[in-house]
Amino acid sequence: MMIRFAILPLILALNFSMCKKNPSAADSSKPAASSSPPAEASTAASTGVSAGPASSPARINKPVVDQTAQTIIFCYHLLVDKVRYPGTEITPAAFEAQMKQLKDRGITVIPMQDLLAWKRGEKSIPPRCAIITFDDGYKSQYEVAWPILKKYGYPFTMFIYTEGVRGGSLGGGGAITWEQLADMRDNGVDIEAHSATHQDLREGHTITLASPGGKKTRTKLTGPQYEQWVQNEVVGCKQLLEQRLGIKINCFAVPFGNYNEHVKELARNAGYEAMFTVYGQPITFTSPMDSIGRYAIEANKPKVFEDAVKMIGASTSGGAPVAEVGAKDLATQPADGETVRTALPLIKANLSGIGQIEPGSVQMRVSGLGVVPATYDPKTGTVSYQVTQKLREKSCSVFVSAKSQGKKVEAHWTFGIEESPARAVPPAAQTPKK
Ligand SMILES: [Zn+2]
Repeated sequence: MMIRFAILPLILALNFSMCKKNPSAADSSKPAASSSPPAEASTAASTGVSAGPASSPARINKPVVDQTAQTIIFCYHLLVDKVRYPGTEITPAAFEAQMKQLKDRGITVIPMQDLLAWKRGEKSIPPRCAIITFDDGYKSQYEVAWPILKKYGYPFTMFIYTEGVRGGSLGGGGAITWEQLADMRDNGVDIEAHSATHQDLREGHTITLASPGGKKTRTKLTGPQYEQWVQNEVVGCKQLLEQRLGIKINCFAVPFGNYNEHVKELARNAGYEAMFTVYGQPITFTSPMDSIGRYAIEANKPKVFEDAVKMIGASTSGGAPVAEVGAKDLATQPADGETVRTALPLIKANLSGIGQIEPGSVQMRVSGLGVVPATYDPKTGTVSYQVTQKLREKSCSVFVSAKSQGKKVEAHWTFGIEESPARAVPPAAQTPKK
């Protein structure tokens, strides 16, 4: 019992860094991916968006999203049997071992669009997630990576630079084809933008221009010439992908991660919701959407993957490792995702499933109140607190932590509050006023 508790939600951190261009995961508006997990179902289940039966009179319209969740995003390039350029290559075996590790460590691979929906406050994601992205558009991503991802049922995103697709001025023999991209699209793979020619997008930086005759010139563009060029890189590539594939693009992976405020503004105006770099870091609810870091995975730097995974497992404060426990296992009251009719709820959780609790180690935190003087009954394993000061927000997060066998164990959940004066107290319980 206690083992289950300690191990189950031991969610480990994963870090991803984004590389230049990668196509990405499934959009819910796209055909259901065979490789996509049942996002709606798993979301509802893990976040308790649905209200509990008896105790919750109302359903909240907008889900109360778990703002403590974290995601790491991985960026891959080429899959090759023999690595020659470790900066962008990885063997299929190493790639598959990493995919397996995510599964073994209980890290949920989610579609990119779930991350965006979560950031919009529309849907919850599991507490510890990973997103898989591929940059540039290589046929090995279609031929080698995709079958492995199908095996694990993982959604993923492809970031494509349009001139790098086969037939484009930069699309060589290893490039993915438009037909392969269409096949991926039809199977729910998320396809997103990574510029037109994959170069430094900042004004005045040296770039290569290809003339219609195929002649290449190194140059630095400024002024109106630069504006015209960068417009095509940021906006033109989006339009081309949308038109050729009949899709909606809302993500932009910045080539080399090199951009500035002007490029960001162009991208925002073009309708991109998120911009990605290759500076890996765990993505939290408050991470800015115009610089989402990905962990670039390189063949000779296995530590990047390891560290990313560890990042998401550790507490965000950088403190001692904490084992996460699912709120469901604690029979919490109010339940996770439930909406209550009172701003003065009784908050309870049953810790008996955690195992031996160290005396005095039980702590309850409530959003808007901080640490509260909760009581813990060692006989029943129940920690409870009757709120005495009205909760002001529409949603309330509770964190319960305790020490068990020297380890800190923590659970958190969120419930909604919708005080309706007329029906706040059931008629039977009403007492005459004054
Ligand atoms: Zn790239």
